[in-house]
Amino acid sequence: MVRIGIIGGSGVYHLIEDSELRRIGTPFGLAYVYLGEFGDEEIAFIPRHGKKHDIPPFKVNYKANIYALNMLGVERIIASNAVGAINPKLKLGTIILPHDFIDLTKCRDSTFYDGKTEIIVRGRNIEGVIHVSMTPYTYCPEIRSALANASNQLGIHLIDRGVYVCTEGNRFETPAEIKAMAIMGGDIVGMTGCPEAALARELAICYASISIVTNYAAGIGGREKLTHQEVLDVFSRRLEDVSKLLARSIPLIPRERSCACKDALAEFLK
Ligand SMILES: [Zn+2]
Repeated sequence: MVRIGIIGGSGVYHLIEDSELRRIGTPFGLAYVYLGEFGDEEIAFIPRHGKKHDIPPFKVNYKANIYALNMLGVERIIASNAVGAINPKLKLGTIILPHDFIDLTKCRDSTFYDGKTEIIVRGRNIEGVIHVSMTPYTYCPEIRSALANASNQLGIHLIDRGVYVCTEGNRFETPAEIKAMAIMGGDIVGMTGCPEAALARELAICYASISIVTNYAAGIGGREKLTHQEVLDVFSRRLEDVSKLLARSIPLIPRERSCACKDALAEFLK
């Protein structure tokens, strides 16, 4: 069994060199998962945008990815995302652990529970009409606290609170959209955090995310245009920190789960 899964966003693609690539068939399509050692532990790694970074956010097969990790027995997922800053106090390159999200995606298949597909979690069939709760914590508090402790130990600055707004894409947001998101309470904006986080909760898998501010959102910080290259340039400067954070945090994540994430399906397990 593999305990930890990592879903790497833009730039985080080479965490586990010399790892074994597995094609995993799921009821939702194929997932490509690398199995290898990282931070003294066997982990499963998924490059979210594919090996060649050719899958745009709206085409990522989030369901296949999360279900494949479930099939491997993964109980904890750490994801990374490149984000734009809505909150003008955020600086480029800042690392944030979001504590909540607002899902503004429009066209994504965002649930496993369509009433047709048989869903199996840790050997048990899940039955009934399922609506998982995103409370008391939207993201796993145990993973978030391991990441925060790792950052203290390493002296890597991070902000351990923030609201992640997820858009459908594929374009970047308009200035009016960003203004609206700021009023709604959003701090950062990206295109990949949803439905990924909620799908993990639907399978009672712990999930937390490391977001790296790679650009200012439209109308923030006086920047009006940004290219993918600009996004990658800022991100690559923080790649080393993200790798160190992941390696240091993994041993700090308790082996036994005490968080509520593990009980997300308790009432539906037959
Ligand atoms: Zn948890």
